[in-house]
Parts: sequence; C-alpha cells; structure tokens
Amino acid sequence: MSFKHIQGHEKTIKILKQATKTGRLSHAYLFSGLEGIGKRLTAIALSKILLCSSKGSEPCGKCSACIQVERGNHPDLIMVSPLDGTIKIESIRNLKQELSRKSFAVGYKICIVDNAEKMSIQAENSLLKTLEEPPPDTIIILITGQPYRLLPTVLSRCQQIKFHPLSIFTASELIRKKVDVDTKTASLLASLTGGSPGKALQLNVEYVKQLRDSWIEYSGTSSSAGGEDISNLAADFCRDKDTLDLRLNLLRLWYRDMIFYKIYGSSKELLNSDETKEIVSQSSSWSLERLVDTLFCIEEYSQTLEYNVNPQLAVESLLLNLNSGNASLFPCSGRAAAVGNY
Ligand SMILES: [Zn+2]
Repeated sequence: MSFKHIQGHEKTIKILKQATKTGRLSHAYLFSGLEGIGKRLTAIALSKILLCSSKGSEPCGKCSACIQVERGNHPDLIMVSPLDGTIKIESIRNLKQELSRKSFAVGYKICIVDNAEKMSIQAENSLLKTLEEPPPDTIIILITGQPYRLLPTVLSRCQQIKFHPLSIFTASELIRKKVDVDTKTASLLASLTGGSPGKALQLNVEYVKQLRDSWIEYSGTSSSAGGEDISNLAADFCRDKDTLDLRLNLLRLWYRDMIFYKIYGSSKELLNSDETKEIVSQSSSWSLERLVDTLFCIEEYSQTLEYNVNPQLAVESLLLNLNSGNASLFPCSGRAAAVGNY
C-alpha cells in the first residue's frame, strides 16, 4: 500500500507528500472523517515512505522496512487500537515507553492510534503530555471518525487533516475492486454507506436486498397494514443498531429514487435501478410534495433516534406516518436541505 493506491484523497495526499519532501512534518496528526474511507491506509502509506530505506518520494515496496510495514511488524511503527472497545491508560503507558526508546533503524518512530475517540479520559490525559513534548523524530497519528469526542487540548496539539467522504463513483469503483458485484449493486452499497467502501464491504449484499424486498412487500400493501404488521416490522427494524441504520438508509434511498423518477421521468439516476418497475409503480400514486415531505420525515425520525428514545415506538410512529401519508405533519422548512443531501 502506498499513496498511489489511495483514491479520492488527492489533495490530502499532496499535502502529506509535500511535507515528507520538505521534512516539514508535524509531530502529531489527527486524521478525521467517515469510517472506512482510507484514513488508516493513508497513515500506513505515510509511515511506509518515512520508514523505507530508499528515502524516496514513494516507498520502494521491496526493502525490509516496506515489507515489515506491510506485514504490520515494523519495530518503529507502533499500532494502538481499542481492546474491548476502549483504549486504556495502560496501552498509552506502553506506547510512551516504546517511544522513549531509540528507533531500531535510526530514523522515525511512528505511532498510529486507531479509533482514537475510544481512549479513556485517563489515556487521553496521559497522551497529552507526549503530544506536548514528543521525543525527537516521533510522529503520532490519531485516527478518528468522531473528533468531537476527543479533549480540546488533544485536538489543539495535532495538525488536523479532514478526509472527505468519497464520491459514490469512486467508492463504487473501490468496492468493485474488492468484491465481485455489478456496477448497480456497487453503487447501491456505496450510497447506503455514504461513500464508505470500508463500511460497504462489511455489508452482505443478499441481506441488504432481502431487507429491501421486505420493505417493497410492506410498502406495496401498507394501506391495508394493521397495527400488528407495523409492530412486527418496527421490531425487525430495531433488531440491532446496524440493522436500524441500514433499514433507514434503505428507506432514504427508496424515497430519494421516487423523487428523482418523479422529477426526471427516467430510471437513469436511480440507485435502486434493479427495482425500477416498483419505483415507477409506487411513485405514480404519490405527489412530489408528499414524497419530499416523507423524505424529510425520515430524516427527522433518524435524528430523533440518536437521542434517548424508545426505538421501537419511534419506528412504529414513523411507519404509521409513512403509512397514513401524514409526513406533512412534520416541519417542512428543511425540505430543500433534505433533498439536497442526495
Ligand atoms: Zn522500501
């Protein structure tokens, strides 16, 4: 893995390459952005350049240092990750001890803290001292999808590098390089995960389609659905957090497609293009205004679910509203913004 293999972060990579060329590297970086878009790969690629014995602008990929980085066993590259969901102070103490030793290859010592937001408060405070006075030739890279969970004092001591979500096109291409799926499926997976190939590769395509099929079946007969049907479907939505997120994203894309079809009258831009017949059929009985209100209603509920509410009751309420067409009961000032997100 090197910079040339990383897609969609050209500007970020240009900045990092320039820093390696001029030797103006920060002693601490914070790589932030959506999970699964290449932050960790970029951190490893940067480490490889700095540790490669050829000392070129790209790692040679052949020297023992490059091979060790690739295998994850280079003695001057220390990886810290959560254990049982937390990075405890002991891990940071061990890290500090490692960093206090001279590098094996007389060069940089690099530390990558993955999921840095999982550090306990004690661990963060302990790391803070190292960030303030790092040993010479030390580079610490914190990686996080939730920078707001880190102490402001930690944030202020790092050079922050934001990784933007990948375009659906780029994410789809990356997905297709890893798994054997057609363009339409890759595009659907990329859209469902907001342009995160890492997250998309964790999804089971058949399971995703199964969830979508059950929604199509329900929505096709929703006008006759009773309380028990809604309650059962809501329970299915709330099976676990991942399923809930996935189900809500499928809903978003479904209504997004109906809106696109309503506006453009073409299946060209549909993300559920393998279900064009169903999209066309369902959208014929909806007005554009009601579809937009519905999409906004889904957004409202999704945000509500982030708070301490009973998910089953919230999802039942959402399904009832979708069922009865009462989405217009929700404030509509953000309609344009809701559609704009797609
Ligand atoms: Zn090398």
